[in-house]
Amino acid sequence: MEKTRLGKTNLMVSRTSVGCIPIQRRSDAESTALLRAAYDGGVNFYDTARAYTSSERKLGLALGGVRAKIVIASKTMAKTGEGLEKDLEESLSELGTEYIDLYQLHNPAETPYPGEANGLYDAALAAKAKGKIRHIGITSHRLSLAKEMVESGLYETMQFPMSCLASEDEIGLVKLCARRDVGFIAMKGLAGGLITNAKPTFAFLRQLENVVPIWGLEHIWQLEEFLRYEEAPPALDDDMRAAIEKDRAELSGNYCRGCGYCLPCPAGINIPMAARMRLLLTRMDWRGMIGEQDQTAMRKINDCTRCLDCAKRCPYNLEPPALLNESLAYFEEFLLEHKA
Ligand code: SF4
Ligand code: SF4
Repeated sequence: MEKTRLGKTNLMVSRTSVGCIPIQRRSDAESTALLRAAYDGGVNFYDTARAYTSSERKLGLALGGVRAKIVIASKTMAKTGEGLEKDLEESLSELGTEYIDLYQLHNPAETPYPGEANGLYDAALAAKAKGKIRHIGITSHRLSLAKEMVESGLYETMQFPMSCLASEDEIGLVKLCARRDVGFIAMKGLAGGLITNAKPTFAFLRQLENVVPIWGLEHIWQLEEFLRYEEAPPALDDDMRAAIEKDRAELSGNYCRGCGYCLPCPAGINIPMAARMRLLLTRMDWRGMIGEQDQTAMRKINDCTRCLDCAKRCPYNLEPPALLNESLAYFEEFLLEHKA
């Protein structure tokens, strides 16, 4: 397994690393099997978050026995120093560890600076001084904000969505991180499940030397695919470039990335799922997506009050109600066509 230096943290991490959102949906035994297989395959970097429910506990359960040999990244969405301290203690307890290698401020609305009244950054510094965390990173979904965070010089890593659909401006962020020696952690390498062919995006990201993708894995077969690519990393060829161009054409514009930052919806609408339903039905195996429960969940869209709370929180400046209505109309037509 090829390793790379994660910017100024000096941590050496595997080029194929694991994002631990999907293990929330798996049992303890399944998560343990997956994470141990990843470790046995040479993966040493695992990214989780306090917000990912059971993820930290499952990671600790699976890899507690090899703690010193892995690099753990976690995150807090706290908005104050006190909140960070509380989250950090819970994360340490759930992970069953005395320290977190990389502690990231999780998608804050603005760049946290030292000396602010909320005490957020100062609390992270204090935790580092106590040895509870070893490095401070940050995550964002907004390009201009991410650039400001990197330029601030306060953060050792930046975690940002990056796949083969990336724009020139987004690649510019990768280059900025390289110049500032900030480690670049790529989330959503498969665009939240919308990219169904992993090989081109793997090859695309492999060209960017300072980028470490954390693939969100749920099944062992997904891990095995990435480990196969690691054995002989594919170089971008004309077929892959054509596949990327096709995805770019289909996914350009205002599509929902499934990040979930618009939640909670007061009407109980599962916006990340519902707003992407048209894309999911056209790009994936739709047979498990049109059952009774799916229909009920989709028709919750009719309860939307247009309060626009979701739009205020969406980092991509989308207007979810419009996407939801379009998605529901497509879903109803799809049902008529495909149900007996
Ligand atoms: S506008 Fe509709 S979808 Fe958005 S938060 Fe309000 S009720 Fe939910
Ligand atoms: S509507 Fe925006 S915030 Fe909500 S899941 Fe989609 S991209 Fe994320």
